[in-house]
Amino acid sequence: MIDFHAHIGNLAREDYPRRPALTAEQMIDRMDRTGVDIAVLQPLESPEGGWGYCLTEEIIAARDRYPERFIAFLCVDPRYPAAERLIDVFVTRHGCKGFGEHVNGLWFDDPLNLRLYAKCEEHGLPLVFGDDLGCFDEPGLPRLERCLKEFPGVTFCGHGPGFWSAISGDDDRTIVYPTTPIKPGGAVERLLGEYENLCCDMSAGSGNNAMTRDPEFAAGFIERWWPRLLWGTDYCLVGQETPQVQWIAEIDVSDEVRHAIGHGNAARLLGL
Ligand SMILES: [Zn+2]
Repeated sequence: MIDFHAHIGNLAREDYPRRPALTAEQMIDRMDRTGVDIAVLQPLESPEGGWGYCLTEEIIAARDRYPERFIAFLCVDPRYPAAERLIDVFVTRHGCKGFGEHVNGLWFDDPLNLRLYAKCEEHGLPLVFGDDLGCFDEPGLPRLERCLKEFPGVTFCGHGPGFWSAISGDDDRTIVYPTTPIKPGGAVERLLGEYENLCCDMSAGSGNNAMTRDPEFAAGFIERWWPRLLWGTDYCLVGQETPQVQWIAEIDVSDEVRHAIGHGNAARLLGL
């Protein structure tokens, strides 16, 4: 399996020194225990991205130690003056294969973010964004839609409570993990239908909640959109529970669909 969304590094600074940074070796150990062959490691370089930072250089160093097991993404804060130049360097000199995790305290279509999307398009990078702590949008995801339209060469991979909230027509963005049945007419499905450059990152509590809050709806959603679904965990802390592992093993789909969600779709997107 390919875990499309994982983190190493110092992402729990408020627990210092009780909770040390998650190392590449601990990540490999977790992958071996849960049947993950390859993990896409995502740096976090914006203060809104989590309770800590992980620089792209740390991800590149981990990938270089375990090139068979890790894919390196890059991340640059859009407010960094040399952001565009850094993207060029990380792609051309260090072989980073995607942009993410993109979470910062700006609107999703802030001009500073748009220039990063233009760079992703130039290099053919997929972009994983988290819509909860940052990269803000509104009900119906109009700012995401604008970017899907303006940057057809970027595959936007939606993630986080703010993205998955829009799987439901009511799109109540005030609740992080809604438990109510999903209402038809959600923006996620409409945008998947209208824009081929949108994929769904199934990782984290938000992806898991979207797939488990209304099992009947989820079954239809998977049937309609499985070629655009990317399995992942968002593993970032030692000992973290990963219900996504059990979910992918147990969902009632054909072997072809299970393999696509857990491996094939990501492999295609990453050019593996
Ligand atoms: Zn993440």
